[in-house]
Amino acid sequence: MADWDEPEAQPGGAVLTPADPAWRAAIADMAEFVAAARSMVVLTGAGASTESGIPDFRSPNGIWARVAPTSYRAFLTSAQARREYWQLRREFAPTVAAARPNDVHYALAALERRGILAGILTQNFDGLHQAAGSSAERVVELHGTSREAACQSCGARQAIEPVEARIAAGEADPRCACGGLVKSATILFGQPLPPEALTRARELALTCDLFLVVGSSLRVNPAARLPLLALERRVPLLILNREPTRYDERADVLLHAQAGPAMRALLDALE
Ligand code: NAD
Repeated sequence: MADWDEPEAQPGGAVLTPADPAWRAAIADMAEFVAAARSMVVLTGAGASTESGIPDFRSPNGIWARVAPTSYRAFLTSAQARREYWQLRREFAPTVAAARPNDVHYALAALERRGILAGILTQNFDGLHQAAGSSAERVVELHGTSREAACQSCGARQAIEPVEARIAAGEADPRCACGGLVKSATILFGQPLPPEALTRARELALTCDLFLVVGSSLRVNPAARLPLLALERRVPLLILNREPTRYDERADVLLHAQAGPAMRALLDALE
């Protein structure tokens, strides 16, 4: 079930830029680990897509600075919550639809072409990894996809566009042909994750030889616990995130920086 941990006091730390020697040293260290890897796994969060123009939730200008998240329970039990959910989606959907992959997505697709990437475990539902050229079978969408809608009773799936058109035409609470509630095929807090995605993600975390985190606060569970499966096997952990995370102290290489330029530099360092 998707839930999140309350903020913990994480040791602060400046966001480094390519002008900082420590940034360059971290990229060189990361490149050494990546060059030695044969089956690397990458966990991406909302921070992997902010440079594509999709805001994350928790950053100071993130979506939660403005609106509280709808829980799955509220969606199922409250017509008012469903109206608010669809209203937020109407605001958010054009941004996601217009977004194009950035250097994070392209770098990971390039690592797959080099044959060292076993899988991408993504908390994102925006489809940008696939749009950048990562093959669909290597991308595990832990929090579902915003390209489809799902009936919460019979499970029927359909493209999201017809549902959005119904909302735009004034339907406040769209229903499936079976009468069930329809929502985007993404995961709300309190909603179980797709079991096959979680199983696949755990398998990959249990078999990889390098684990990289890009753009995740590591506060949204159970995805945030996946790095532990690698750490328990003494698999090296690399963390690239703008802000501190709970596993920073356990990372073999840690870089607090913008993800796009860092991933581009990492790829360049492998050439
Ligand atoms: P999160 O836990 O993935 O946190 C985002 C993290 O990314 C933050 O720690 C932030 O410091 C970091 N970050 C932001 N921009 C960055 C950048 N350019 N470079 C490096 N780091 C950067 O996610 P959240 O915002 O707390 O959202 C919770 C959940 O909501 C996600 O797990 C996801 O399922 C969903 N979500 C998805 C999308 C998407 O599909 N693009 C967008 C927003 C939220």
